[in-house]
Amino acid sequence: MKVHYNYLPQEFSDTNEIFEKWGSLIQTTDFTLGAFVEEFESKFSKYMGARHCISTNCGTDALILSLRALGIGEGDEVITVANTFYATVGAIVACGATPVIVDCDERFQVSVEEISKAISENTKAILPVHWAGASPDIVNVVDLAREKGLYVIEDACMAIGGFVDGGRPGLFGDVGAFSMHPLKSLNVMGDGGMVLTDNDVIADWMRKYRNHGMVDRDHIEFWGVNMRLQPLQAIVAGYRLDFLAETVEKRNDNAKILDSGLVPLKEFVTVPQRIPNYYETFSLYMALFEQRDRLVSFLQGKGIEVKIHYPVPLHRQKAARRNCIVQGVMHNADYQANHLMTIPVHQYLNDNHMEYVIACVNDFYK
Ligand SMILES: *Cc1c(COP(=O)(O)O)cnc(C)c1O
Repeated sequence: MKVHYNYLPQEFSDTNEIFEKWGSLIQTTDFTLGAFVEEFESKFSKYMGARHCISTNCGTDALILSLRALGIGEGDEVITVANTFYATVGAIVACGATPVIVDCDERFQVSVEEISKAISENTKAILPVHWAGASPDIVNVVDLAREKGLYVIEDACMAIGGFVDGGRPGLFGDVGAFSMHPLKSLNVMGDGGMVLTDNDVIADWMRKYRNHGMVDRDHIEFWGVNMRLQPLQAIVAGYRLDFLAETVEKRNDNAKILDSGLVPLKEFVTVPQRIPNYYETFSLYMALFEQRDRLVSFLQGKGIEVKIHYPVPLHRQKAARRNCIVQGVMHNADYQANHLMTIPVHQYLNDNHMEYVIACVNDFYK
């Protein structure tokens, strides 16, 4: 049996509806922003329950746009976590600010305690990540930020379609940033991203900055850049949004089967705690495994395309020697980097695939 990591061939096997809408776009030639982008923005903000959606070229741009909108730049420190994708920290550096990297907890999520230890007189914002599509203790992160007068920018790139206590990841802080990279829960045929906020002033600034600071064709209010979402991708995003809930549900079904098969192997496998009121998207299904590297080769030999997200945490990257503050010891991030493994749980896999994975893991430890 093959358990593939890539599900894109299946996901985009029926493209008629997308092609039809692309046809109308080509007739209008509305190729930069315009009606199709607005239609998606309004559909997405309604779906999420946010006042404003400003789409961008990608998730990385969504993070940069959020940070800049809050006035974060040189001399400012932004606290984030060691086990995230490069873009989280890269966006902070791109704004001229200094990332302060802290450890995660045993659920792979940024530790609120470590954040509180890292706050200095230069701290301007906290950038918590909803890593793997699960969520940190976001309510306490926001409470801490409010108490200290700091902004919260949520990196919810992997968490579209999730919930925390009935709230949407990305809507707890001041601004939430999202990605529509092909491997995220809401995906397009290339790059795409967006920010959500309820703040009218920030939203207005972001809408202008994303489009050269323009107020109309002949006037700009300030110097901006081009971070626009392509209308072709806005159409794909609007189409895919109708499948989001069932996509996330199927991933949850698969993850539950894995959980119940792996939890009994507790001598060798540590499954992260699942919090009852959290609904994860399972953009990545991760757990910790003894003899991880041998297990990875073993499973790959069995046709199961497992991965490691990621083997080198950010504080150990060459890039982190400059422009970064590493706050404290990254005990969990280091341990997890050596033990974690990602198992495919995407929506085109079923019970049989999951049972096969469990059987192979059992075989390995026998
Ligand atoms: C994917 C991702 C990003 C970057 O998004 P792009 O759309 O690829 O630019 C940032 N942060 C996290 C946590 C991500 O998973």
